[in-house]
Amino acid sequence: MCGRCCRVVTTSKPYKELKALEETGDKGACEFLKIFTPYPSIEAARKVDRELVDNVIELLKADGNFDESRLTFYGCKYLLKNNLCSIYEERPALCRHCPSTPWSIVPPGCGFEGWLFMEREKAKEKVRKAKEDLLELKLLKNKNKDEEILKKITSVEHKIQTTIELYKKYGSYDW
Ligand code: SF4
Ligand code: SF4
Repeated sequence: MCGRCCRVVTTSKPYKELKALEETGDKGACEFLKIFTPYPSIEAARKVDRELVDNVIELLKADGNFDESRLTFYGCKYLLKNNLCSIYEERPALCRHCPSTPWSIVPPGCGFEGWLFMEREKAKEKVRKAKEDLLELKLLKNKNKDEEILKKITSVEHKIQTTIELYKKYGSYDW
């Protein structure tokens, strides 16, 4: 109920790409641009919430992903002065499901911080277990000669590898 995640937000895709997607009818882009208006500059967004903007920039820099020309901040036109949502019952799915992943960037001090941390830890645990399972399957493969069993093991390995791949962009190879 602080409204910070509605007042200043950003996306991984630059504004130009979002606009292009909107023109093709992309549901996510259309939904986003229907409620969010871009700030004319990073400095303009800073005037609204300096801590939040600088936090995003620092995180992007730490990941080696900071490119000022690709970064736009937006504000929602439906946020009221008292920090409540004026279309709460009909708010779009992107608001209902926010934060959408455990790696979502939320404003410092947001009530979701603890939950996001726990969810990230759970995901890391899942990936570590998947890696252990892969090692056990490797041993099992070395002990087996039966073609059918080897085929089944390969299929399970493939599924496990897919789980690890799913989290690749969050660093799963290093967990
Ligand atoms: S629609 Fe409501 S919940 Fe969604 S960003 Fe705007 S004010 Fe926030
Ligand atoms: S989700 Fe976090 S940032 Fe957004 S309104 Fe709630 S406490 Fe504030």
